[in-house]
Amino acid sequence: MRQSQLFTKTSKTAPKDEVSKNATLLIRAGFIDKLHAGVYTFLPLGLRVMNRIEQIIREEMDKADGQEIYMPALHPKENWETTGRWSGPDPLFKLKDASDREFVLGATHEEVVVPLLKRFISSYKDLPQSVYQFQNKFRAELRAKSGLLRGKEFIMKDMYSFHADEADLAKYYEKMKGVYAKVYERLGLGKDTYITFASGGSFSKYSHEFQTVLETGEDTISICEKCHVAINKEIIAEQSVCPSCGSKDLIVKSAVEVGNIFELKTKYTTPFELTYRTSEGKDELVVMGCYGIGLSRLMGVIVEYFADEKGLVWPEAVSPFIIHLVSLGDVSSDADKLYERLTAKGIEVLYDDRDKPAGEKFADSDLIGIQHRVIISAKTVASGKLEYKARKDTDAIGLTEDELMAKLIGYEK
Ligand code: ATP
Ligand code: MG
Repeated sequence: MRQSQLFTKTSKTAPKDEVSKNATLLIRAGFIDKLHAGVYTFLPLGLRVMNRIEQIIREEMDKADGQEIYMPALHPKENWETTGRWSGPDPLFKLKDASDREFVLGATHEEVVVPLLKRFISSYKDLPQSVYQFQNKFRAELRAKSGLLRGKEFIMKDMYSFHADEADLAKYYEKMKGVYAKVYERLGLGKDTYITFASGGSFSKYSHEFQTVLETGEDTISICEKCHVAINKEIIAEQSVCPSCGSKDLIVKSAVEVGNIFELKTKYTTPFELTYRTSEGKDELVVMGCYGIGLSRLMGVIVEYFADEKGLVWPEAVSPFIIHLVSLGDVSSDADKLYERLTAKGIEVLYDDRDKPAGEKFADSDLIGIQHRVIISAKTVASGKLEYKARKDTDAIGLTEDELMAKLIGYEK
């Protein structure tokens, strides 16, 4: 994409009403725009990152036999009354239509997915099943000042699994621990993301959160570095030893919850009477698990985790483009040719073809944070060597076009 055609622009100054590091940087770099507290637009660059995060999660959920669906955000009140959550403690956005019928904007989707699966599950032969979606969730969060970390409208992957009994749920739940670890590893967060013991799901001793260590995190976790697990302080403060190895050698750190998994068991299948017929002809309640990942929160975490004083730093797996091609001075015919050659190879390029001073282009390139930067100028054209630099490198190296092409093998779309 030619940067001259991008309708968004970078900004040198921080937005006045934004205090979080993630939103400040993302707004300055032109990735998101704030509509109001906790509600953001994803702009072309930001949406590319979001789509990459989504695709990584989709691939891992599909490997775990998840079937992707897309459920509505506008839910009838009756479904939420059935589970008792219409008047529960969680802050919902409620609304009425012209004839005074009441609705909820979905804060989560048990109220939709359970009646949905009830239409299709009747026998033990219909189980197990696992469905998931990427969807905007709406929550009347009071603390909406952390940018993408806590939105009032935010993007979540929510998966729901349905089983004949608790043993089958437990097996799938164990598998999902590994699936989640793989997701965070692919996103570049594996080293500092801990599976964390949190207070019980509905009827189980523990649920599990995935927490990424971050100074600005709202949560406090105690980490056992040997086992790479943690305990959430807030909810199981009495637990002072590692639940895996019993070690008392725990390190306390701030962290952000980037996902969680729960054994819901029959909490929601009971009110909706989701049952199945066993092989002996008895009717039993279906047993459920649920598995969430906050995508927009993850994007904010990735920003805060990797950014430096110059701006954003995207890990390769979610970078909006593979290459930032920056042309300096009047070399447009050579630069256009290189852009075409890279694009024809299937390499996604942001091409800074704007007529701007070098300093401004470098500053923008650092702010936007694409992993690989290539400079083409009168000097590089004369020497036959492009200047290449990774975002975190201090010095550039010279590469011929062919050397650059060789370096990019494996990055094709
Ligand atoms: P938290 O304790 O941070 O409020 P939660 O327990 O309410 O999270 P869930 O309802 O289980 O979280 O949602 C699943 C995932 O969605 C969370 O692990 C988190 O990554 C993300 N998430 C939850 N609330 C928000 C929010 N307001 N904004 C952005 N992401 C969120
Ligand atoms: Mg919450």
